[in-house]
Amino acid sequence: MATSSSTSQSSATARLFTAARLIDLVRAQPGITRAAAAQELGISSGAATDLLARLRVAELLDESPAPAQGRGRPTTVLHAHARGPLVIVAELLATGWRVACVGLDGEPQIEAQSPRLRQRPVRVLDDMAVAISEIHAREGRRVRAVSVSVAGTISDDRLVQFSPKGWLDVDLSRLTAQLPDDVHLPVVLGNDATLAGLAEARTGVARDGGTVLHLIVAVGVGGALIVDGVPATGEHGGAGEYGHIPFGDPARQCPCGAYGCWGLTVDGLALAELCGDPAPRNPITYAHKLIAKTAPTLREQAAFDSVAASLGRGVAALVNLHDPALVTLGGLAIPLRARSSESFDAAYQNGLMAYRRPSPTPVLDGIHGDDGPLRGAAIRGIDHITTAEALAEWV
Ligand SMILES: [Zn+2]
Repeated sequence: MATSSSTSQSSATARLFTAARLIDLVRAQPGITRAAAAQELGISSGAATDLLARLRVAELLDESPAPAQGRGRPTTVLHAHARGPLVIVAELLATGWRVACVGLDGEPQIEAQSPRLRQRPVRVLDDMAVAISEIHAREGRRVRAVSVSVAGTISDDRLVQFSPKGWLDVDLSRLTAQLPDDVHLPVVLGNDATLAGLAEARTGVARDGGTVLHLIVAVGVGGALIVDGVPATGEHGGAGEYGHIPFGDPARQCPCGAYGCWGLTVDGLALAELCGDPAPRNPITYAHKLIAKTAPTLREQAAFDSVAASLGRGVAALVNLHDPALVTLGGLAIPLRARSSESFDAAYQNGLMAYRRPSPTPVLDGIHGDDGPLRGAAIRGIDHITTAEALAEWV
């Protein structure tokens, strides 16, 4: 028999679950009205009013009058509370870093950034740690987590490989080392491609996509498989290294140590080699410049064709493997496909199993562009602080 204290505890828990669902709804549908939210959650309008009142006192959600529409009863639109919980988002890019702050509305505000990276990883992480500690000093208890995106390979809390600078095995816990000793914020780490995929699947072109594969070309290829809005990150956070699948030349060794990596055949370094140019210092800038040429030479067009075909072939293989509802592209994959869409389409079709060819899985350009990883890290961080357990702690 349940005691009265365990009964009230379980009803409090049930309320927190409903609160978490309501917060999810406000995130997924900005500007949703109280009436529409009550309907989606399957609760009465009285229960919604009561829940909203509690969430307003808890400084989680707030409401303002909705613009009048026709003759219906006036309602309100729901939004994040102005004093609600925050996530600090830190992004380590191939060419610099950014630190931002984001509330439950999911719109990251950049607070500090650098357009270049110092040589030593500890210096870079220390600069980012200062920016993180400054936001924490200002916002205090409102900050509930730090969510990090890195343009490299992650395993647990370590950056195993950061190709743009040749860094190996960097301890990322340094990012929170400048916070006061009694502050222990949860840190969520993610690979940039995984987080860009998460952003496309939750707020981008693949919204409501079910199973979605996102592929991004930068230096090499990265990607993520997102199932019902959650990325498959693997046992140690290292999943999604699509560029290191041996779809390339088996005789060639990749900087990762493996032979035959696909990533070696589809990025700016591959283009430079095919064009007979020396290896560019910044393969992304090199690729953008080449792509922007109005009249490429025959050799340059042949390089585009080769890269686009390799991309299309790999996408086909991954569609055969994962059976996604959609494939989304990011980074250089978008203009590279556009530069040679016939080569891409032919290779994609030829690589698909015959039964898939009559209605091939759509391959769409992502919409978040360079902000994808930052937005994905924001989404992941807010997911982390809006579980029923995390809300219980906040309340
Ligand atoms: Zn590799």
